[in-house]
Amino acid sequence: MDLKEVVRRLNIVASLNLAGSWDNVGLLVEPYTKKKVNKVLLTNDLTEQVMDETVNVKADLILSYHPPIFQALKRVTSDHWKERIVARCLEAGIAVYSPHTAYDAVKGGVNDWLVGAFGDAEVTVIQPSTELLVYTHMIMLSATTEQTKEQLQAKLICVPDAKLVMSDSGSAPYVLCCKKNLAECIRALSSCDVEFISKSESVPITGYGMGRFAVPNSQQTIADVVQRVKAMTGLGHVRLALAKQHNLNSIVCKGAVCAGSGLSVLKGVDADMIISGEMSHHDVLEFTQCSVTVLLLEHSNSERGFLSAVLQPKLKEIFENKITVAVSEEDKDPLQIV
Ligand SMILES: [Zn+2]
Repeated sequence: MDLKEVVRRLNIVASLNLAGSWDNVGLLVEPYTKKKVNKVLLTNDLTEQVMDETVNVKADLILSYHPPIFQALKRVTSDHWKERIVARCLEAGIAVYSPHTAYDAVKGGVNDWLVGAFGDAEVTVIQPSTELLVYTHMIMLSATTEQTKEQLQAKLICVPDAKLVMSDSGSAPYVLCCKKNLAECIRALSSCDVEFISKSESVPITGYGMGRFAVPNSQQTIADVVQRVKAMTGLGHVRLALAKQHNLNSIVCKGAVCAGSGLSVLKGVDADMIISGEMSHHDVLEFTQCSVTVLLLEHSNSERGFLSAVLQPKLKEIFENKITVAVSEEDKDPLQIV
């Protein structure tokens, strides 16, 4: 399958518009010489060990959940491991694609996988994604504006992306524009009677966004949740900070998750137990003293299981089994409990 077609299908799995504005997602490395993609390797982090594995298993595309290029590279030499990876990819004709926060936000993504730790539950999104509105403002003109459609259109000709809506029956015309063009639009319409200007709110997209909140449908103890997390991740040990009045048999009525470093999403959430990858000592204390039990898996351990449990079967399906989809065996969290 052509790389272009592979990327098109990957963008259907999760729209890159869902990613944080600060993020660096999508196709990050594209070899100059075109070749077919026959094998994709999934990894949480693209380390040099995973790079060796990619070459050994002859993969043509690496899907790295975390973007291996985040801060700008000023050179591509063999001095730094990130530069070496880019150089090796280009030399071997291997492409790199990273979805990162688009997979956190998408319905059925990393956080929907992680929230499974609370068992069968009513799940909602903590910070919903919003639909990007093309037009953010509406300028309503008086119905008595004695201007023809053509005259109004001529006034707006120099305002980019402004849209005049006016029926032939002569009902009140209005102009749609975005925030950055609002002042220019008002200037262009200065000779018209403006009735009012309204601002549209972004519309939340149900089921999409950062973090998940769960109300379990059956009785779950903290021990049940810990057990399920271990089964989901294959981890022998996780870090548990019990809230001051909790023990392992306490019932979890409300749970919340945010994979990776979840503090900004989980702060202030009304839950008995939260699950994330990592958090500082003082943040953990703040939660436990405020009656919230904290379960930490290490950063990438809270994300990695999604690759084999959800993404691998999904990609096999969207590539119609024409591409081999493998999960890295070298990829692992750098921290381990010894
Ligand atoms: Zn992460």
